[in-house]
Amino acid sequence: MSPDEFRRHGRAVVDWIADYWEGLQHLPVTPGREPGATAALLPDTAPETGEPFDDLLADMDRVVVPGTVHWQHPGFLGYFPMTTSGPAVLAELLAAGLNTQGMLWSTSPAAAEIEARVSDWLAELMDLPESFRGNGVIQDTASTGVLLALIAARTRAERDGAGPYVVYTSEDGNACITKAARVLGIPDAHLRRVPVAAWTRAMDPADLAARIGADRAAGLTPLAVVATVGTTATTAVDPLDAIGVICREQGVWLHVDAAYAGVAAICPEMRWIHRGLDQADSYSTNPHKWLLTGLECSLTYFADPAPLHQAMRVTAAYLHDRGEARIDYQDWQIPLGKRFRALKLWFVLRAYGREGLQRHLREGIACAEELASWIEADERFELAAPHPFGLVCFRHRAGDGAGRELLARVNADRRLFLTSTESDGRFLLRIAAGGTATTSESLKAAWQRISQTADQVTTAADP
Ligand code: PLP
Repeated sequence: MSPDEFRRHGRAVVDWIADYWEGLQHLPVTPGREPGATAALLPDTAPETGEPFDDLLADMDRVVVPGTVHWQHPGFLGYFPMTTSGPAVLAELLAAGLNTQGMLWSTSPAAAEIEARVSDWLAELMDLPESFRGNGVIQDTASTGVLLALIAARTRAERDGAGPYVVYTSEDGNACITKAARVLGIPDAHLRRVPVAAWTRAMDPADLAARIGADRAAGLTPLAVVATVGTTATTAVDPLDAIGVICREQGVWLHVDAAYAGVAAICPEMRWIHRGLDQADSYSTNPHKWLLTGLECSLTYFADPAPLHQAMRVTAAYLHDRGEARIDYQDWQIPLGKRFRALKLWFVLRAYGREGLQRHLREGIACAEELASWIEADERFELAAPHPFGLVCFRHRAGDGAGRELLARVNADRRLFLTSTESDGRFLLRIAAGGTATTSESLKAAWQRISQTADQVTTAADP
């Protein structure tokens, strides 16, 4: 494709995206296709000769859109929002055009220095502890952040010739913690799921301390605690201050997983979520969830990155141009290759500014508060957990069967998409506000639809 052709097609692509965003509300949120239906539209083999770009773009509407779950749709209220924005998407395009490889400072000096700077900008915006300043890195996901934290923890622990290792998280700690532990050869049996309090679903620190003590007495090595700020199930906030004291006393690494909720600390009134974070060894949060940055952009900060570097730094004749005074990002991550993800974070932070980001986050929180008030006012439902962020969890008072039927009916209609979770063995419906296009009006319309659908539920009340 010549630069002139690129210019022409590039404009068409940008128009396509703008049209998609503009018309999104008129599409069903979820696809009606059966498994295999998209693959059936594709030839068995790649084409022998090149096809015109116009045909490729036309297949976005024919092949891709009808088989897509539209995460940017105002009716997408499941999981957590994966927000994006114009500045983020355009920066992705620019980064793809540059297509740099940032494994070393010398292979991409501007990318390295922008990443270091915007990691610090975000730390300042969120008022993260001083120990994390200058020590942030952008990864693909929070799953990688947890894995790197455990790798660093093990490297630190190995200095004392320790093992076998045990990792601790709450009952509601994310599934990626299980994966990270397995990758390190820590079996599921050595991942302790600490009980949580009934309503807040926050980790019980006394139980954590007792388990750490018992494991040590049994000859095991408590390696790390992964505490959560904003659990995936209900956005519970673990008590970092009490957990931090235990970790310090016991010499156990503390990683704080704030994948979804951490960015809320950009608003000063939400900073309570990080009380005690100054005792943590590492911390992750995902601007790609709530901060308009688009997948993938996950920040991980280390209070002392030395054990991470010890584990990750490799040398080879072809990796020659290193410098002690510079950041070589291959020391901060598992792969050698590194995309220029910092560009989109830089664009988003500049395009919105502190004020714009706060407005966006506060809108999500206000939407959740409004929604919770409608749920509380409806005698068929009850709130199931606190809702400090953009997520509201609730139950059907008639029981789990009625809740499940309601979810199935709402999602079958395809104009909304909700997900569920379980708490104490009970079924909970989740509604996640804060999405790119979710507004107070769209949420009101969604609640009306859910409420009307609840009128059709036929499952008998639990005995
Ligand atoms: N941790 C928490 C608390 C999450 O909510 C999630 C995803 O929703 C994750 C970790 C996994 O995040 P990622 O997809 O970035 O690996």
